[in-house]
Amino acid sequence: MYKTHTCGELRATHAGKQVTLAGWVHRRRDHGGVIFLDLRDRYGIIQVTVNPDLSKETLEHVANVRMEWVLQVTGTVHKRPAGMENPKMQTGEVEIIAESIDVLNPAKTLPFMVSGENDLPDENTRLKYRYLDLRRERMSRNMILRHKVVKFMRDFLDKQNFIEIETPILFKATPEGARDYLVPSRIYPGQFYALPQSPQQLKQLLMVAGMDRYFQIARCFRDEDSRGDRQPEFTQLDLEMSFVHRDDVLALVEALYTDMIPRVAPRKKLLSSPWPKFSYKEVVEKYGTDKPDLRFGMELIDVSDIFTKSDFRVFQSAIESGGVIKCIVAPGCADYSRKEVDALTESAKALGAKGLATLAVTGEGLKGTAAKFVKSEEEEAVKSKVGAKEGDLILFAADERAVVNKVLGGLRVIFRDKLDLADPDLMAFAWIVDFPMFAWNEEEKKWDAEHHPFTMPQLDDLPKFETNPAEILSDAYDMVCNGYEMASGSIRIHRSDIQLKVFQLLGLRGDEIEQKFGHMLEAFEYGAPPHGGMAPGVDRLVMLLADEPNIREVIAFPKNQTGRDVMADAPSEVEPKQLKELHIQIKE
Ligand code: ASP
Repeated sequence: MYKTHTCGELRATHAGKQVTLAGWVHRRRDHGGVIFLDLRDRYGIIQVTVNPDLSKETLEHVANVRMEWVLQVTGTVHKRPAGMENPKMQTGEVEIIAESIDVLNPAKTLPFMVSGENDLPDENTRLKYRYLDLRRERMSRNMILRHKVVKFMRDFLDKQNFIEIETPILFKATPEGARDYLVPSRIYPGQFYALPQSPQQLKQLLMVAGMDRYFQIARCFRDEDSRGDRQPEFTQLDLEMSFVHRDDVLALVEALYTDMIPRVAPRKKLLSSPWPKFSYKEVVEKYGTDKPDLRFGMELIDVSDIFTKSDFRVFQSAIESGGVIKCIVAPGCADYSRKEVDALTESAKALGAKGLATLAVTGEGLKGTAAKFVKSEEEEAVKSKVGAKEGDLILFAADERAVVNKVLGGLRVIFRDKLDLADPDLMAFAWIVDFPMFAWNEEEKKWDAEHHPFTMPQLDDLPKFETNPAEILSDAYDMVCNGYEMASGSIRIHRSDIQLKVFQLLGLRGDEIEQKFGHMLEAFEYGAPPHGGMAPGVDRLVMLLADEPNIREVIAFPKNQTGRDVMADAPSEVEPKQLKELHIQIKE
């Protein structure tokens, strides 16, 4: 070993010990003859004091030393004199008085400083030099947190009889609603593997194989257009269980997260335990979205019944055309200026509204765009139904139900950020259940699976395959937290007759079903157990626990926002010989 100790572990109890350390020069200060070097490794930083009484050779070495050079230092641990301790450093009560210093490797001037959080360059520069960016304390902390999260998952599931099984990366298309990454075959001209969008089919086949409880820290690949926080490859805790009902799966995952969070991120608090459970319909009505942020209130309230005889044209026409009138109450916002209300109206329009009606509850009665149309009995009824107090601003949307929910759900999140309504240390988990099984794709005039086609429809709804597929509910569930979808899963179809029905409704032809999923249907004929599972995302969880704004901050080597690896410069062109072997010709 190049070292006897790490830079982070030395304390006053080590005083008097001779140690050898190896690491990077974090900072250098010259104080008239005495040179102070802060030496850094993954474990921490320690001050090394270089006195002028060292050998000429050593002093010559040190004279050239710059930031980020790699050194080996031998010296003695000294307790710092009283008053000279640095409480900001974990090793701040000691220093190393150097006896010899070897330069293991010099370093060019770095493209950016890694010793602080200030003066960071743009993200592409950080990603180009990711190996330097990862030297920053914050990034190193994120990597360690990620490791702890994954280790906790593995240990917890191991205790619950799960086994970790690897599944292939070169496989066949597994639909999860995205485009596939394809890998051309050299040996089979014109044929392709697909990278798995998830190990969905394989984990189900492991249940047919009798593995009973499977998990994997699985990489998933989805070729989607880059949208803010997406990565072409991402990591899920993929798991599957046999002989379980929905609530067995939910209980297991809830226990995992409830145990894990205080251990890996003690600052974070869970809003509630047990977690609340909402049906899809209920949650969308209440929060306007199926991924609600439950850290604050401002629920959507239906006031259609109060305005059935309204004089307000906007309200009348919504009701006449079968729509609804709903509102949210923004606490203490009655004095918003015209400009602020106009900005909210613009946001509402961007979310799909035709406009936004407001009522400000003030000491001098109602103000706002809807005030002159509201009768006094309506005023009283609204105030009492929504619990609005003096100083509050009530915002109304009147339209088709889906539009109203989307608009008010979006405004709710805008107010969360404007009014700082959500505690960043709170983790507000919830389960969403009873999703619709299918969604009508108007563009392509066909049914799509809301989750994926292996999800079990609720058995009571089976007759609706022939009559009203839109009303079929599935046994799918989502885990949400702080406005994000953290996991999805479902009880699966384990009978080939039901699976066939689903494929047929999705518009797959017989030969297509056979070609794409014949292996699944066949497997289900050999004694498939009832089974279900889910796949919580690892990146997003670590992002929330680390208080980071996006998942790239918690992935060692992510692609940038347009899907490029700017460090290795990938994707990139390849040799004509390779293309030829793969039977590929590039069309300009
Ligand atoms: N395979 C699903 C997904 O990746 C999760 C699951 O159903 O287990 O979203």
